Amino acid sequence: MSKVVVITGAGGVLCSSFAEFLAEKGHKVALLDINEAAVNVIADKINAAGGCAKAYACNVLKKEIIEQVHQQILADLGKCDILINGAGGNSPKCTTVHEEYEKGDEDAEISTFFNLPTEGFDFVFDLNIKGVLLPSQVFMTDMVGRKGCCVLNISSMNAYRPLTKIPAYSAAKAAVSNFTSWLAVHFAKEGIRVNAIAPGFFVTNQNRSLLFDTEGNPTARTGKILRATPMGRFGEATELLGAVEWLLDEEKASFVTGVTIPIDGGFSAYSGV
Ligand code: NAD
Repeated sequence: MSKVVVITGAGGVLCSSFAEFLAEKGHKVALLDINEAAVNVIADKINAAGGCAKAYACNVLKKEIIEQVHQQILADLGKCDILINGAGGNSPKCTTVHEEYEKGDEDAEISTFFNLPTEGFDFVFDLNIKGVLLPSQVFMTDMVGRKGCCVLNISSMNAYRPLTKIPAYSAAKAAVSNFTSWLAVHFAKEGIRVNAIAPGFFVTNQNRSLLFDTEGNPTARTGKILRATPMGRFGEATELLGAVEWLLDEEKASFVTGVTIPIDGGFSAYSGV
């Protein structure tokens, strides 16, 4: 059955792939992103292939904007059946240069734990957790009292064990997994399922600068990630689609709610020995 699927961060690498896949399955997709040009390109591609997509400029941190976009989607496509909270990512604004404390960090000019700007921490933390909360508050009003509705969040390996350098992103993704469970319990009797996926490592816009240097060579961090991923490679966005399809399927996943599924080439299973 054709559903209305609202996807935030739909201009990004992972969520544009979800959008194309879900449109191919016959769903109507509303593509929301702060980067309007990016979602316009994806919507054009989907529509040219015979699907139904509409692009909306939307900052997931501005509730009044989300509410306006919600009204437009109601008029254009109808009520939201499925919400995918995909907008998120890290930023150099809250990334330490050193992986561990080094002598002199307290007086250093570079970005260390001691001088991480509060605004940088807020920016990354808010994007990843309030960017899930606010669209859920707005679009879940469509789901109440209707059958077959669900929410899918995107957590991360950071939710299990934080990665070095990115404290706000790590903390926020732990909060995303926690909030997924909270929301699932809150809406369980209403029949709205809420789940998450926790991708391992995929090369996308938000992490490219940590994974490759300016010449495109893998950084030392990339070497560590691949050694810690038993499959020894990055994932491809299409390798998330099976879990996405299953979690969104109201029949196949009818009793599944409150879970976060790792899709990580074995990263979370590996002790490092
Ligand atoms: P991406 O950078 O390609 O996509 C993120 C998208 O979010 C971009 O299109 C960006 O414009 C949009 N966005 C940023 N701020 C926004 C805002 N305020 N309002 C609306 N849209 C905004 O990165 P991606 O890897 O495809 O990220 C998708 C999700 O997957 C994110 O939540 C990310 O944290 C998560 N994730 C990614 C990985 C990975 O390895 N790439 C791993 C685990 C989790």
